[in-house]
Amino acid sequence: MQVKRFLGIFGLCGSICLAGCNDDKSSVAAPSAQQAETTLQPIIIQGALPVESERMAAVLSDVTEETVGGWKFWKGTYKGYPVIISKTRMGMSNSAAATAIAIERYKPIAIINQGTSGGHDPDLQVYDIVLGKYATNIGAFRTPKQPVGGGSNSLSWVEAFDVLPDDESDPEPIAIRKFEADQELLSAAHIAQAKYTRGNVVEGTIGSADVWNNELDRIQFLHRQYGTSVEEMEAASVAQIASQFNVPFLGIRILSNNITNGGAYDPGTGEACQHFVLDVAEEYMKQKQKAL
Ligand code: SAH
Repeated sequence: MQVKRFLGIFGLCGSICLAGCNDDKSSVAAPSAQQAETTLQPIIIQGALPVESERMAAVLSDVTEETVGGWKFWKGTYKGYPVIISKTRMGMSNSAAATAIAIERYKPIAIINQGTSGGHDPDLQVYDIVLGKYATNIGAFRTPKQPVGGGSNSLSWVEAFDVLPDDESDPEPIAIRKFEADQELLSAAHIAQAKYTRGNVVEGTIGSADVWNNELDRIQFLHRQYGTSVEEMEAASVAQIASQFNVPFLGIRILSNNITNGGAYDPGTGEACQHFVLDVAEEYMKQKQKAL
């Protein structure tokens, strides 16, 4: 009975297809970017500071602004694709909150967290861009025990504290947790990199914490222990929230400074990164539209 019904439905589908399907793809008009607007969910691009978000907001079409709590969102289109620019403000808590709000409110197809960063890898120069194959929290530790008067040495903090353990009953989970980038976002970024002329674009690990490290021994320790290419204050936090909602995520960070090789801070990097990331978003949405 069940099988017969299934075959019947299949037969019906088959005949509809014979009558209406055209295998010659070249004669079928490709959906325009305009149509994508109505079918694709928006991609969210985050920047912490005005210098990391306002340039992107300025190039959107049909923009409307929305402020939720302390977080601003610009909703519009870019090259016909639905895009929301989110100013998260600085740090792990702000970026987590902005991410959770955005996911609940806008049901995004994907999230890109982007902006400036400080180099941990001496081979990277200011204006190089790191595609975060991994994002990891470099601000969560269990320190060794020391008595009063025993001092404190952050180079001995070798136990990373995993704030998202699989086993929630473990009160002191010790592990380095790395959030892996979404493969399709990463592929889109690799296509877009052909257009980027200000520096190299490489894959790497983005380390995040509410800390600005200026001690070279500390930076070298993090680079060795976590394999960090750069540090900043948001990407791993956003990755952590996105992973719990199963939203595809990629962190993209330009080096605005690199004290491991004397790379002086350059404020122009914030804008350069925004241009690159808009190209990445366009490429990603193009692929998503094709797959519809
Ligand atoms: N406008 C400056 C300073 C920004 S203040 C710059 O671009 O360098 C801190 C913000 O910049 C955070 O949102 C953080 O994500 C990022 N950032 C840039 N370099 C950093 C570094 N060396 N360490 C930590 N955060 C850094």
